[in-house]
Amino acid sequence: MTTAIPQRITILGATGSIGVSTLDVIARHPQRYRVAALTAHSNVARLEAQCLAFRPELAVVGEAGPARALQGRLRQQGLETRVLSGPDALEMVAGDERSDTVVAGIVGAAGLAPTLAAIRAGKRILLANKESLVMAGGLFMDAVQRHGAVLLPLDSEHNAVFQCLPPGYSARPADASGVKRILLTASGGPFRTKPAAELAHVTPEQACAHPNWSMGRKISVDSATLMNKGLELIEACWLFGLPGERVEVVVHPQSIIHSLVEYVDGSMLAQLGNPDMRTPIAHALAYPERIDSGVVGLDLVACGQLQFERPDTERFPCLSLAYQAFAAGGDACINLNAANEVAVEAFLAGRLRFIDIPDLIREVLERLGVAPVVDLDDVFSRDRRARRTARELAAGW
Ligand code: NAD
Ligand code: MG
Repeated sequence: MTTAIPQRITILGATGSIGVSTLDVIARHPQRYRVAALTAHSNVARLEAQCLAFRPELAVVGEAGPARALQGRLRQQGLETRVLSGPDALEMVAGDERSDTVVAGIVGAAGLAPTLAAIRAGKRILLANKESLVMAGGLFMDAVQRHGAVLLPLDSEHNAVFQCLPPGYSARPADASGVKRILLTASGGPFRTKPAAELAHVTPEQACAHPNWSMGRKISVDSATLMNKGLELIEACWLFGLPGERVEVVVHPQSIIHSLVEYVDGSMLAQLGNPDMRTPIAHALAYPERIDSGVVGLDLVACGQLQFERPDTERFPCLSLAYQAFAAGGDACINLNAANEVAVEAFLAGRLRFIDIPDLIREVLERLGVAPVVDLDDVFSRDRRARRTARELAAGW
């Protein structure tokens, strides 16, 4: 079914892996969706091509010089797109009245302020930027309630869980729905079977070569350390209102089952599909309807066997660090996320070994302790402090 008025979509982080997959789905349904705004940090060439293809009213890039140059080139090509720059413009565009739906596809803490701006404007938010929930979960979920925003998860595991929960679940306490626990599946990443001794020497290129998913570099490293699953477990606790003990991680190397919900009657519901982000993106874009995503259906016989294992927290301590940070509360998850971003950046730049990532994060968590967080100013100041501490530690590592 095609809706009469097109849904107007803004994509924050349009040039990234999530952004590109979202535009791929949108392009299959020109009657249904119109692009209101696209944003990028530094990949101006890709943003320009996207603007020419989708003709948004607004575009944002990181800096003023490239924004002016892009504005000039778009004008020459007959486009009326207004090009803005910087973090304030990102927030303005996220809350702009010319969109109904905002795809939060920026990577890292930089996504928090614009995602909150979209929430405050009462938008329908398709959330990929898990770091924003990890940093500010309580304030974030309160804002969603207060401003009547609608939050739909794009992360494949959370989208799978959402699909396996009863309709309207989020408005009810978990116990009333008979949900016993959530099981998040993890591929185990590229080093799932690598002996501990070899992990010291793995390169950024090896870490970014994910066996099943094609993603940005930061989340690829997170998948290799299992921090991605750590961030996702915190994301799941906030999205679905459960304590950490009721969210379990199970390694499933084929990435066919994207996650499961276990009910008190012994039923387990799972969502299956080929590992392609266009499925959760199409689900959230069209919800509660269903649309073609371009993803081919699953051939179960060709899949053959599905395997399941417990995560190895000895070789991959990041998952335990995330459970501990969530249980500690206060600013622990802010410190966890900031230290991880700094550690991953240093690893990608060749300044830190793969096995140093969890050690650096642990050290930051221990040094900074746990203090309560009252408001957003606290969130941003603790984030800056944790980054400073992590950078100082990394420099002398
Ligand atoms: P990516 O690196 O491919 O793209 C990141 C996007 O964010 C780019 O458009 C970039 O221009 C923008 N960006 C980066 N830094 C910015 C800054 N400081 N200010 C403004 N914009 C900035 O990343 P990705 O893989 O698309 O991941 C995006 C988010 O989605 C992450 O939070 C990730 O954890 C989450 N996610 C990704 C996938 C996936 O398959 N790629 C799956 C689930 C969740
Ligand atoms: Mg995921």
